[in-house]
Amino acid sequence: MTSYEQIFENNRKWVESRKHSDQNYFERLAVEQKPDYLYIGCSDSRVPASEIMGLQPGEVFVHRNIANLVNSIDMNVISVISYAVEYLEVKHIVVCGHYNCGGVQAAMQPKDLGVLNPWLRNIRDVYRIHREELDSIKDEKKRYNRLVELNVTEQCINVAKYAGVQKRFLSTGYPVVHGWVFDLHNGLLIDLNIDFKEILKNIRQIYNLTGKPID
Ligand SMILES: [Zn+2]
Repeated sequence: MTSYEQIFENNRKWVESRKHSDQNYFERLAVEQKPDYLYIGCSDSRVPASEIMGLQPGEVFVHRNIANLVNSIDMNVISVISYAVEYLEVKHIVVCGHYNCGGVQAAMQPKDLGVLNPWLRNIRDVYRIHREELDSIKDEKKRYNRLVELNVTEQCINVAKYAGVQKRFLSTGYPVVHGWVFDLHNGLLIDLNIDFKEILKNIRQIYNLTGKPID
């Protein structure tokens, strides 16, 4: 394990290496951020957002929580999405789950997990919505993996329920919402290729917050 002191040593080396390739690196970084991407992912330590995307500081706005949930009464994620859409004007919102997600697996355990119960209930709700498909998958590991994918898709749908997202997409064509899964076994990102336009159209049948009719 990396020692506590080692982290500060690592940090000093990182600063030096950045300055070595660009003398004004930190001056530029301090001016402002203008990322094109908002990434909503799992807190799992094995899924470092900017690293797996190959992005540098300043290129991605990040929100992480257990099992990458977009919950309607979570002021944290609401604030992040609002700020990203209205002030940073991001072009893409990515919800990224990952196989072997402890949060998803915990939600499938038939036991009381205390304070985690209300959070994990969101994943149980995803299971309930897709129960027929999931119950038909006999292999337990494959069933978990599919739940990881369906959870990502449902969270993308939850992003589409935000008034700010709906309004800005209607007026500018952005942000586009994407669903990804990170495969820990090979390090690859899988694009679930969700049809955001179609999702938005469907979601507005019930959750239309734009004040405009659905075309
Ligand atoms: Zn996870």
